[in-house]
Amino acid sequence: MSALDHTHDVNACSWLDSANAAGADFPIQNLPFSVFRRGGTQETFRGGVAIGDQVLDLAALAGTTALQGTALQAARTAAQPALNDFFALGPTAWRALRHGLFALLKDGATAAQMALVRDCLVPQREVEHTVPARIGDYTDFYTSLDHAVNCTRLMLADGDVTPNFRWLPIAYHGRVSTIGVSGQQFRRPMGQVMPPGAKSPVYQACARMDYELELGIWIGQGNAAGEPIEMAQAEQHIFGICLLNDWSARDIQVWEMAPLGPFLAKNFATTISPWIVTMDALAPYRTAWPRPAMDPQPLDYLDAPANREAGAIDIRLEVWLESERARKEGRGPARLSSTSFRHQYWSVAQMVTHHTVGGCALNPGDLLGSGTISGPGPGEAGAMIELAYGGTRPVPLGDGGERGFLQDGDAVMLRGWCEKPGSARIGFGESRGQLLPARRE
Ligand code: CA
Repeated sequence: MSALDHTHDVNACSWLDSANAAGADFPIQNLPFSVFRRGGTQETFRGGVAIGDQVLDLAALAGTTALQGTALQAARTAAQPALNDFFALGPTAWRALRHGLFALLKDGATAAQMALVRDCLVPQREVEHTVPARIGDYTDFYTSLDHAVNCTRLMLADGDVTPNFRWLPIAYHGRVSTIGVSGQQFRRPMGQVMPPGAKSPVYQACARMDYELELGIWIGQGNAAGEPIEMAQAEQHIFGICLLNDWSARDIQVWEMAPLGPFLAKNFATTISPWIVTMDALAPYRTAWPRPAMDPQPLDYLDAPANREAGAIDIRLEVWLESERARKEGRGPARLSSTSFRHQYWSVAQMVTHHTVGGCALNPGDLLGSGTISGPGPGEAGAMIELAYGGTRPVPLGDGGERGFLQDGDAVMLRGWCEKPGSARIGFGESRGQLLPARRE
């Protein structure tokens, strides 16, 4: 697990004022990665690091004398249009670049260093992003007990989760081709739906469109087929974490899902945030991974002292909805829910280890979805089907409108950040996606 060092010092400031603003997502302690170019241009996409309201262009920086040694090699590798090769370098190189960038951006950098860096900054408001790596495989987990219980009880009031849930992190293999970066727009999907009481299904536009609040876990160094990643090493294989919205067509899902799992209900769009927050940046926010004594304890291969002590991460999360009406009337979005990732029943290390235990190879740039993140309290559910009880109790939006499921034109924003006294705020930025009308009814 990442150790704390001088780059986590809450008192560290940058000579770039916007990085020191209260509530800023991207202070000098964060330094998340994305792939970007100036918007509306044909420039080559390249790696960048967020600092305040700017992007530090790693391709430009790698062409200067600002960095040396391992940090320079890492910057050159991260300057490519996809971060896979950078992910493959591993934690020593990632950390060398973090430390190198921290030294260049901190208060007290030399005038020469500041001059070099200034020429490599691009305002965030002027850039566009793309998916930051070539994702070879995408796996979506199902690891929130509160989400699993909420969904089960929509069907059976006193129902419990399936017996396997408390023994292993459940997942299905997902689809890469329709994963898009924040700003993604997609059409309401068509598919087969079985109306209540009907004897045969109908082909129609999804009538129960939903979102799922998740985190995306980016695999750094992979493993060879047949060589599982053990718990003690699992986190060294994780580069970082982004926000992920697993859009879900509930009516299509419930009809198609047995016995092999979701298919069309999940493969039309998945929206991720552009910035990947590194495991190093998240180090101050590690917290105990609790497993109630009355529950089954993890089998040995899924257990480790470090995971018990600090396997969970306190990432605060929110879901916001902007209706077409709110947009037209110039009003802001409505907050639907808020929770924390620390409630998740399985940790990211357990997801990685379980994924590989049977012999499966993970590769740099593979993406794992955490599964919907719902907390234990009211208003902590990470999907509308839970908040609105299957559409039976619509959620008020504060503008007179309400939602049982999503309507055409709705945009859903996920936001995430870490914050606590004695540590710098670590922000994730935003994942925004918008539902457009179906192609045909
Ligand atoms: Ca999901």
